[in-house]
Amino acid sequence: MTTTVLVLNAGSSSLKWMLFDAPALSRLRSGMVERLGEPTGPGTHAEALASVLSELGNVRPAVVGHRIVHGGRTFTGPALLDEYAVAEVQRLVPLAPLHNPPALAGIAAVAERLLHVPQVGVFDTAFHQTMPEAAARYALPLWCERDHGVRRYGAHGTSHQYVSRVAGEFLQRTDGRDPEPRRREDWNFVTLHLGNGCSAAAVRGGVCVDTSMGLTPLEGLVMGTRCGDLDPAAVTHLQRSAGLSAEEVNRVLNRESGLKGLCGENDVRRVLARAADGDAEADLALDIYCRRIRKYVGAYAAILGRLDGLVFTAGVGENAAEIRRRVCEPLGGFGVTLDAAANEVRSKEPRRIDAGGSAAVLVVPTDEEQEIARQAWGLVRGDDAA
Ligand code: ADP
Repeated sequence: MTTTVLVLNAGSSSLKWMLFDAPALSRLRSGMVERLGEPTGPGTHAEALASVLSELGNVRPAVVGHRIVHGGRTFTGPALLDEYAVAEVQRLVPLAPLHNPPALAGIAAVAERLLHVPQVGVFDTAFHQTMPEAAARYALPLWCERDHGVRRYGAHGTSHQYVSRVAGEFLQRTDGRDPEPRRREDWNFVTLHLGNGCSAAAVRGGVCVDTSMGLTPLEGLVMGTRCGDLDPAAVTHLQRSAGLSAEEVNRVLNRESGLKGLCGENDVRRVLARAADGDAEADLALDIYCRRIRKYVGAYAAILGRLDGLVFTAGVGENAAEIRRRVCEPLGGFGVTLDAAANEVRSKEPRRIDAGGSAAVLVVPTDEEQEIARQAWGLVRGDDAA
């Protein structure tokens, strides 16, 4: 019988799953159970998991890897989900009230249906826990952190970790252009995860040293519906001036801002199409979006001391040549160049799109599920997967 790894990504109303074979970790099957808790869907995560397992012919995986959004300061890598770890994920619910509870439900469902199968948590925040204190702390009174956990945790860590590793391997393997290929440990990358949510990370030799998301995924880059960096005084100003409650301001900043706030659309494809048709509002929205990305590239080049590579990933980063062009073209002073033809190529493979500047520019399709499978399998096998 094939050895398998099951990866689960539990949301409040859905359960995404992927089955990998081991040790190759190639994807065998995947699917999603939707409408959990609705009249037409399964009632609980346990029922959803039962239907997945029966669809898979009652497969018994060697390990189940769970995507967990928030691991706080506790989880710095993949963790075996024993009683202590589960209690800790529970304790962190206030930091991710919408996301950690469904993950806990998924863990309980597996414990019920797959007795004695080891479960591993892979946390979106874990990769960023190597950030130095100087990057993780806000300049607030000490009690804000001590009593309320207000510090920078980051997000999208599994994706930044995956693409920075693959980019390093790719350059090592194929880098005929570099007279002295460097070892992976030596690469200084800025990774750009541009999807609905967007974040940047500064990665030195595979280790995260800074990232743009903070206490929550609201900080940093301009996103589909989130504003990213903002003068914090705007919050209290809006409360007073527009008479909004804390919850209402929160909604404006998270759901009604970003590209959507600027031009009414959060799908980059549509914003690009409008800009191409001469729509000034859409064009300005894209300028603001790309300018913020460049600000972070420059800031992280300064943090890293040297920029060896810029890595684009996620829905926008992988597919939108025009966004990559707008980001890269003005960055010549940082050694960033773009090969116009290579930039237009569509592919699911990692690829290099620079014209031979000192910084490699790469597109690396992200695969968070594969990274979760790799880390979960590595942990139960005793490998160093982190
Ligand atoms: P999520 O953050 O939800 O995982 P994705 O990484 O799938 O999202 O990215 C979704 C975004 O990718 C969409 O908002 C869409 O604007 C953008 N996108 C997808 N395909 C393209 C494309 N061909 N050109 C430009 N943008 C695209």
